[in-house]
Amino acid sequence: MSKKPAHGDYTVGWICSLEVEQIAALEMLDEEHDRLPQPPTDHNVYNLGSIAGHNVVIAGLHQPGNNPAATVVTQMRTTFPNLRFGMLVGIGGGVPMKTDNGMIRLGDIVVSKPAGSHSGAVQYDHGKAKVGQFERTGALAPPPVVLLNAAQDLAVRRARSRKDPLEENIQRIDTSIRGLRRYKHPGATHNYLYQSHYIHKTPGVSCAECGCDPLQRIPRTIDDVDDELYIVVHRGTIASGELVVKDAMLRDALAEEHNVLCFEMEAAGALTDFPCIVIRGISDYCDSHKNDQWHGYAAAAAAAYARQVFFHMPIDEVKRFVLLSDRYLDGPS
Ligand SMILES: [Zn+2]
Repeated sequence: MSKKPAHGDYTVGWICSLEVEQIAALEMLDEEHDRLPQPPTDHNVYNLGSIAGHNVVIAGLHQPGNNPAATVVTQMRTTFPNLRFGMLVGIGGGVPMKTDNGMIRLGDIVVSKPAGSHSGAVQYDHGKAKVGQFERTGALAPPPVVLLNAAQDLAVRRARSRKDPLEENIQRIDTSIRGLRRYKHPGATHNYLYQSHYIHKTPGVSCAECGCDPLQRIPRTIDDVDDELYIVVHRGTIASGELVVKDAMLRDALAEEHNVLCFEMEAAGALTDFPCIVIRGISDYCDSHKNDQWHGYAAAAAAAYARQVFFHMPIDEVKRFVLLSDRYLDGPS
């Protein structure tokens, strides 16, 4: 436990914005390392550790958004010069559409993967776009090949395994501890979706309190209900923008044009010059009914998936890159 890796020994950056995401990230570490000194110009707070033999830097954001993400990534890469790639891990708003793995539901995971003409993530600004128009404001880097391969390998092995590794990872979070209670699964009866045209009655209170009509929920198939606790992973395009989407009609319009599975707010900032994979636990449907009920479990699911990816990344592949780096050869080793 008392290892003392140097700055140059860290190869993977794990970036999250919300406190609920940072706590879940820390719960996924095999080892926690002591903090290292950092330049006075670097204002990030880092948590260091390792998973499956890979040294990881976990960085939080002081606020969500693409600009804070870009700043954090720039500083992190200066302080830890051998970071090879990043993982953006946390919650996101899902588009209730069908993928190869079924309907996207609360508690599922969406992982960025190149699809069609997209690199895995698209940046948009719906503040400027009219409803039904998806204004793209930038091209984003695709996830690194080593992570795409790892995600694929994870999917293949998970499908054949009797014990679900994601479920085991989620159970690392001891929800009997007071501060970790919020990571409990909210229960099947709270996993519902309203028709796109049906607007939430009273902002600021739950659907139950304000009396949103259960008859306006979209009925589910029996198969869906049977699989309630199995975390379904969908891979495809993630949209990254500056504003929270809270309108189902807008969500559907934005999603349709580019086959977007999920909306979030940090990827575009991080991805401009740092190869990352984006992993989002679905905590709402980007509609007027969105609330915090699924934040904890969705954050845990995303972190559990991110942890598992490390077990499918060849260590040699990451180290080889480090050895080739000039900074490493010049620095203390
Ligand atoms: Zn509602």
